[in-house]
Amino acid sequence: MSKNITKETKEFQAETKQLLDLMVHSIYTNREIFLRELISNASDAIDKVRFEALTNQELLEGDSELEVFIEIDEAGQTLSITDNGMGMTYDEVVENIGTIAKSGTKNFIQSLENREQAKDNLELIGQFGVGFYSAFMVSDKVTLITRTPGEVQGVKWESTGDGTYTIEEVAKPKRGTSVILTIKKEHSDAEKPEENFLNQYTIQNLVKKYSDYIRYPIKMNFSREEKPVDQDGKVIEGAPSKHTIETRTLNSMTPLWSRNKTEITKDEYFQFYKNLFHDWEEPTDIIHTKVEGAVEYTALLFIPSHAPYDFYTRDYHYGIKLYSKHVFVMDNCQELLPEHFRFVRGLVDSPDFSLNISREILQHSQQLKLIGKNLEKSILKALESMLTKDRPKYEKFWEEFGKAIKGGIYMDYQNREKLQDFLLFPSSHSSEGLTTLEEYLKRMPEKQSLIYYATGKDRAAVEKLPQMEALREKGYEVLYFFDRVDEFAIDSLREYKEKKFQSVSRGDLKLDDADGQTDQESKTKAEEINKESEPILKAIKESLNNKVTDVKISTRLKSSAVCLVSSENGISLSMEHILSEMNQSLMKASRILEINSDHEVFTTLKRLYETNPASDTFKEYCELLYGQALLMEGLELEDPVGFANRVASLMAKVQS
Ligand code: ADP
Ligand code: MG
Repeated sequence: MSKNITKETKEFQAETKQLLDLMVHSIYTNREIFLRELISNASDAIDKVRFEALTNQELLEGDSELEVFIEIDEAGQTLSITDNGMGMTYDEVVENIGTIAKSGTKNFIQSLENREQAKDNLELIGQFGVGFYSAFMVSDKVTLITRTPGEVQGVKWESTGDGTYTIEEVAKPKRGTSVILTIKKEHSDAEKPEENFLNQYTIQNLVKKYSDYIRYPIKMNFSREEKPVDQDGKVIEGAPSKHTIETRTLNSMTPLWSRNKTEITKDEYFQFYKNLFHDWEEPTDIIHTKVEGAVEYTALLFIPSHAPYDFYTRDYHYGIKLYSKHVFVMDNCQELLPEHFRFVRGLVDSPDFSLNISREILQHSQQLKLIGKNLEKSILKALESMLTKDRPKYEKFWEEFGKAIKGGIYMDYQNREKLQDFLLFPSSHSSEGLTTLEEYLKRMPEKQSLIYYATGKDRAAVEKLPQMEALREKGYEVLYFFDRVDEFAIDSLREYKEKKFQSVSRGDLKLDDADGQTDQESKTKAEEINKESEPILKAIKESLNNKVTDVKISTRLKSSAVCLVSSENGISLSMEHILSEMNQSLMKASRILEINSDHEVFTTLKRLYETNPASDTFKEYCELLYGQALLMEGLELEDPVGFANRVASLMAKVQS
């Protein structure tokens, strides 16, 4: 497919420009990672061709020794990284490293926010799929020459990172890609050897450090000056030394997971993890298991210490990498991981997977199901041990990934039993730290029969809820739900160890326990008042024009005048709120306006009603009460201007 014989100059897309500018001018530390990024791209490209060649040998074009070759040219000031991978077509070059900024570019720039932060976040670069551009940190010019198998012509791409690049067709006899970096002066004659990227030992060390487990040999020609020796092996003094060149493989390639657990250092695990998953922070936990028997596999799983930037979006691809006898088979195998554990990164190597296994076959594989079950168990065990042995670590984990686990409870009832003990919530028990349900249960006074929870934006908001008043007075602990999934998760859990969950803003709080005469009393009292106040409650409801499903005397209020609650069944007000935000507003919560009969406002209201049930003032007061209740729930007023006017005219009256 001949695109363009002549050389063209094109502009980078705006975000790419911004990114390049950052690479060229702002980042001074840790520039060495460019090598890791380029090698990882090379290795990905080789993976691709190897995989495709399983069904189409011709793609290899007779060159089946898959490898990465690094070359240093001191005279030319270049460092090149060459692979015989899949290469790119003209269009692919434009698309992948040219004009079109991938979503990752934008996200990456956003994550940096300002240039000061850039250096700390540099380790992130691979995660965002913008690793290629890191070459510009150390280069005045980057040249890429590439050809995919089957194409006659190759493509040459070149840029100095100044906002434009050139692209043209060129001859490229060998399949694959060469990235040729014209190294910046500061890195070609750097005094510190570790900053000199034309120094063969520096390159060797960097490959060891970052790319040791790359599965393909990373080779380099080593030049050595050798003093000639005589027959006895003794150096011949005075004779000119001999220049020899020797090709060395710089990486060990032994897959870490195949080694014995006890012989692997923490740092080795860490480097491996970083390399494979482009994460810069040490994982929170590592699970390394070998299983033999009905199924045979080795799994190496990591629980990251922070959620990737896109974790809670649709863009996040989860799943385990599959290997068969050390050879990469497939990325993101979701069949091996329940969705609520989608934060787990890792790999499974099993001789039971065949190399050219398709996703469809995988979905029906019994072996795979069995392995998946085992992995789930291993993860649960790891989490349990974290929860019991290192609570701060678990709480940190929870902060990052708790939502995924809560989602698991909500999505599938089969998970409930398994996951409920891993839930953590803030609660009224303590202003710091979180509680498990079991801990809540342990603290529950014997007479308390329900597990209470309150929903709100944050601690301050929840603690001000009028619905909390009675519970606070009783000294009953209340779980706080700040996360939108919380109530949905709990709603599907229904109960924990036979104790039902009860929202402070729904239905009957059942404060009337065994010895709680006061509650029984107050309940009976409320019932009496309810009965006796039937006409006025009805009048309030009517005056509110059926905006509420019911008006009742409250048992949960102590000092506030009113609150809004919803009934035991159906959805709650906060759920309605969330659903309407998600444009699923078909469901409406019931709205029950509860009034504190001990409050002066109620007395006033009663007086107004008794004097003239049809008076405008009575009507206005009802509106005001309802408006207050809405506001306290964080809901929108239907008529904010009307509400404000009413408050204003009331204030004017008080003044006079
Ligand atoms: P990522 O590797 O995360 O996709 P990069 O910025 O490192 O992001 O690379 C962008 C894209 O450029 C790659 O996805 C790949 O399609 C292409 N690419 C980069 N290097 C090579 C290479 N050596 N061979 C083939 N394609 C490459
Ligand atoms: Mg990359």
